[in-house]
Amino acid sequence: KFQVVNYNMIKPLRWGAAQSRFLCSSSPEESKSRPSMLRHLTTKLKATGPITVAEYMREVLTNPVTGYYVRNNMLGPDGDFITSPEISQIFGELLGVWIISEWMGAGRPKQLQLVELGPGKGSLAGDVLRVLSQLRSVLGEASVSLHLVEVSPALSLLQAQNLTRSCSQEADSEDEPVYRRGETAAGLPVSWYRRLDDVPAGFSIFVAHEFFDALPIHKFQRTQKGWREVMVDIDPDKPDKLRFVVAPSPTLASSTLVQADERRDHVEVCAEGGVIVQQLSKRITEEGGAALIADYGHDGTKTDTFRGFKGHQLHDVLSSPGSADLTADVDFSYLRRMAGGGVACLGPVSQRTFLKNMGIDTRMQVLLRSCVDPTTRKQLISSYDMLTNPIKMGERFHFFSLLHHSRLAKPKKTEGLKLDKKKSPAPLPVAGFTDEKIWQ
Ligand code: SAH
Repeated sequence: KFQVVNYNMIKPLRWGAAQSRFLCSSSPEESKSRPSMLRHLTTKLKATGPITVAEYMREVLTNPVTGYYVRNNMLGPDGDFITSPEISQIFGELLGVWIISEWMGAGRPKQLQLVELGPGKGSLAGDVLRVLSQLRSVLGEASVSLHLVEVSPALSLLQAQNLTRSCSQEADSEDEPVYRRGETAAGLPVSWYRRLDDVPAGFSIFVAHEFFDALPIHKFQRTQKGWREVMVDIDPDKPDKLRFVVAPSPTLASSTLVQADERRDHVEVCAEGGVIVQQLSKRITEEGGAALIADYGHDGTKTDTFRGFKGHQLHDVLSSPGSADLTADVDFSYLRRMAGGGVACLGPVSQRTFLKNMGIDTRMQVLLRSCVDPTTRKQLISSYDMLTNPIKMGERFHFFSLLHHSRLAKPKKTEGLKLDKKKSPAPLPVAGFTDEKIWQ
């Protein structure tokens, strides 16, 4: 027997997150013409019985026909989805500086693949590329290419419009790992992939902003009989309503994904995020490079964070599925565990700390000095406040990084070599994660 559970989805203290993502619901016209996600789910549930929360989340967000991210009306002209890169260009510029700094720290390899996971509108990549072109002299002869991992064909088109001025082409066949190719105005090649696995090997800097929070999570509840997985089922009293139930016996996920020494009573595990971090870690170990993951999250302390957003408001995750964004806080302690020992992990540090260490204050002063228009000045100041204020996005969002071990290696001691007293240079500090401001 499945046991029914009620999670209190609407909780206080979620204001920061609600402020960071502004979502608009689609118009009634559009809703009517779209096949119903609810109908699709109830048909599936009737056939298979309850599904895991991970399966529910995957269907709702990325179903190829009705998924939330796949619908092309998600990023409308009114901006129904605002994240840090959309709030201010400074965000992407500072990440661009971080990327160059890590490329230098790795010994300036000849090839630099910039890989972004879940690029949204492409604004972050655009701001990063602008910094790279401004600092072209620093990059020297290095050849730079951009690789975007995006499930949504509609968003890939939007990214192409923003990054390549519509100079992009779709692949002829659906089986091609690169489903779209293009070139930026400056002539940098851009390629689109559905999965990280399809991105070619090579020295890469990976960036993932608000990507991991969109990946499916499993939910587990501690019970008297041990850990049990939370599932999604049809409410028998209201056939067009969904509800949460607790599985009567262990599932594969509940017996493998919960830590033996877990102390919380309820945990969320993003196994898909874990697999992606393992892939990143393997690539960095083998080919060099670094990954920068920025998201809202915690270090293995929170419990029930699964929530929906629609029209600026928190939204019940089970009602009108497909019409609202579904998200869960990223568990950085889990990502660190999944990264394994092959790479060094830094962070999480708060967005405020990271951006301040990256020199956001100096960059703001430069922008304000050259800006006389009072409205633009006001906008600059309020977006700075949104990004860094502890009660807005400053403390809610965190930065976490995976680095090749050589990046942090202490210089070798040269004792015994009497003739060579010179020490090898200390590695460059990792920008953003230490107070040493190398770019000011
Ligand atoms: N990074 C952007 C967008 C965040 S929204 C920003 O900060 O503004 C999440 C992005 O990840 C969207 O582009 C969405 O289409 C994409 N996405 C979600 N799930 C994905 C998956 N499983 N694989 C690849 N991309 C995914």
